[in-house]
Amino acid sequence: MSDKFDVIVIGSGPAGYVAAIRAAQLGLNTACIEKWRDKAGKGVNGGTCLNVGCIPSKALLDSSHKYYEAKSAFSGHGIDVGEISVDVPAMIVRKDKIVNQMNSGIAGLFQANKVTSLYGSGKLLANKKVQYLDHDGNEKILEAENVILASGSIPVSIPPAPVDNEVIVDSTGALEFTEVPERLGVIGAGVIGLELGSVWGRLGSKVVCLEALDSFLAIMDQTIAKESKKILTKQGLDIRLGCRVTGTEVVDSNGKKEVVVTYTGQDGSEAKEIFDKLIVCVGRRPYTDGLLADDSGVKLDERGSIYVNDLCSTSAPGVWAVGDVVRGPMLAHKGSEEGVMVAERIAGEKTVMNYDIVPNVIYTHPEIASVGKTEEQLKADGEDYKVGTFPFVAIGRAVAADEAEGMVKMIAHAKTDRVLGCHVVGPSAADLVQQVAIAMEFGSSAEDIGMTIFGHPTFSEAVKEAALAVNGHAIHMPNRKKRK
Ligand code: FAD
Ligand code: AMP
Repeated sequence: MSDKFDVIVIGSGPAGYVAAIRAAQLGLNTACIEKWRDKAGKGVNGGTCLNVGCIPSKALLDSSHKYYEAKSAFSGHGIDVGEISVDVPAMIVRKDKIVNQMNSGIAGLFQANKVTSLYGSGKLLANKKVQYLDHDGNEKILEAENVILASGSIPVSIPPAPVDNEVIVDSTGALEFTEVPERLGVIGAGVIGLELGSVWGRLGSKVVCLEALDSFLAIMDQTIAKESKKILTKQGLDIRLGCRVTGTEVVDSNGKKEVVVTYTGQDGSEAKEIFDKLIVCVGRRPYTDGLLADDSGVKLDERGSIYVNDLCSTSAPGVWAVGDVVRGPMLAHKGSEEGVMVAERIAGEKTVMNYDIVPNVIYTHPEIASVGKTEEQLKADGEDYKVGTFPFVAIGRAVAADEAEGMVKMIAHAKTDRVLGCHVVGPSAADLVQQVAIAMEFGSSAEDIGMTIFGHPTFSEAVKEAALAVNGHAIHMPNRKKRK
């Protein structure tokens, strides 16, 4: 192996591996260094997303949803499955198989695109040199014209709830339970907390989510957040807002460990709750441990993220950073897109990224998804906007599928009618919002979407109807606004 590359990428999560593939596609001699090891100790690519994030969480969400449906919904369709049970270890094995399959997929893509895949850790030195330490402890100094830092993020830990990986776990531990905890506590009712709470709640845990903020899903559009809270509460998630965890104590109870959680409630009073397992999901922080030599020239911002400009250039010439380790939402697709932009910039193209249109999804059932501005943001910005909403209960496909909870909310500019945001809780919300994201990329108006022919019967008809409702033209519901 040569020690010189056009591009060295450190980290092979969705930001890093996509950057490496795109750079190689553009003819750049590219290496990608990754320090992750699987359960067997083998070096693997894919980062948080593939190994302990997006993919394994969705595998368990899908398994648990099938169980929940079989147990609670099949009888309504005239299907009697009798007594059913859950085999948690089998579910975990299935999840691990999916992860392994995708790990091999990235290895295959690296090979096909001639990316040099290096397992071990990378450290950025001065002048775009990189120290590579393989898993056997052998060191090599590599050089590159450009270095892309994609070291990702790790779970935030809080002093009142130290993770012991036995009773108190983080999101990674919550993907590895060997049985369904009877009483499950979740600190943080954010994206990850709701997804993991849903997994175990569907399998039978009594789930309590303790959330410090007074509002639910504070960054989402609040019409959709309120509707989502109603639906999730009906499913059995006990979501307690304004509850800040102040302490935990792991105790022995009849030979079994449990955790006593102390928290301050909304009225300021102290309360206690006992759980068999506690998941700490209070957010993630950028990860730069061991990544940067003192003289690397790369600066961090006040939140510990690598400081970058709009094009993901760091403060060191020829050094770029992408994904969770830089500012912006911690989402796999946001990092991947930054990876593509940087690779193309390195290759001399003029690519830019549209940070205004980054979809965001919570994979509860039904899904909660959004793109663009929320009504609260537009209000705060003083924008002139109009809103159209449409409930799934008026969509034939949704009723037929027994998926009629939730709604689509479309927001457009009051004068130009240009779509500014779309927020959905309901069946296939992620895919519906994606349709609107495409429309927004093309500068669509609500009228454009309303005039588009949608197949019938589809869930997506709710998007068309919400777009029509923006201007008082919805067909399958009475319009409150005056028809123009
Ligand atoms: P990471 O995926 O964190 O990858 C960084 C990689 O860099 C790691 O493999 C790490 O080992 C490696 N690395 C770090 N330092 C070094 C070094 N010095 N040398 C070598 N290698 C190094 N996002 C979504 O968009 N959709 C979802 O549904 C979703 N679900 C999630 C569910 C869970 C439970 C969690 C925890 C996260 C989820 N996320 C989801 C977030 C998503 O996983 C992250 O946004 C994404 O993984 C970030 O990608 P990244 O490439 O920036 O970093
Ligand atoms: P997210 O950023 O979507 O992963 O959500 C993390 C959530 O955890 C946020 O809504 C925080 O308000 C919440 N949180 C942080 N610290 C605490 C705490 N000590 N007790 C309860 N909730 C917390």
